[in-house]
Amino acid sequence: MSWEIISEKKKTCPCKSGFYTVTLKLDDWNRMEEFWNMNCSHCEDDYILHHDFVTSSGLNEKRYFWIKKSQWLKFENLKSEAKKFRDLSVEIARREYQELWNQYFFKKKKKFIWKALTNNGSVYPSLSTFYTHIKEWGIEQYLSDFFKNYNSLALQILNVENKEISSLREKANSLEEEANNLLETNKISGIR
Ligand SMILES: [Zn+2]
Repeated sequence: MSWEIISEKKKTCPCKSGFYTVTLKLDDWNRMEEFWNMNCSHCEDDYILHHDFVTSSGLNEKRYFWIKKSQWLKFENLKSEAKKFRDLSVEIARREYQELWNQYFFKKKKKFIWKALTNNGSVYPSLSTFYTHIKEWGIEQYLSDFFKNYNSLALQILNVENKEISSLREKANSLEEEANNLLETNKISGIR
């Protein structure tokens, strides 16, 4: 694949004593891609390049940023700590309520299941999308994935409350929030 360079801009680096470059390139299919390159030796030691995605008008846009290595490590630790709590909450939910979940939907009509999972069709997916999904994955797999991925919603549908599970989930949520705040306040991007 060949790249055509559209533009190359020098930008002030985080420590402000050097610069980094942002190169815009176009590939053979006219797709644009950004390349970030650190040209400051101090910042090269202290910072790493990462990216996230922002959704703008339905498209996922890749956004690069610099972040201090130490901050990134903190971010990763918070995320993995949060995941431990979340996984544990799902594990307990599975042990306590998976059977109830299976019974709740046992031999139920597909439309009943869709209504239950989408609060009468008020959220994604639409009935036709739901049919396509269960055709593809099978209803058992679909229900089992839903229970795992939307655990808090699943327990709401079953109308069960479990203090241990909610408290683990709250811990996970607050750690994730802390992680995201840390990233938002420490990432350096777009010094234009
Ligand atoms: Zn620098």
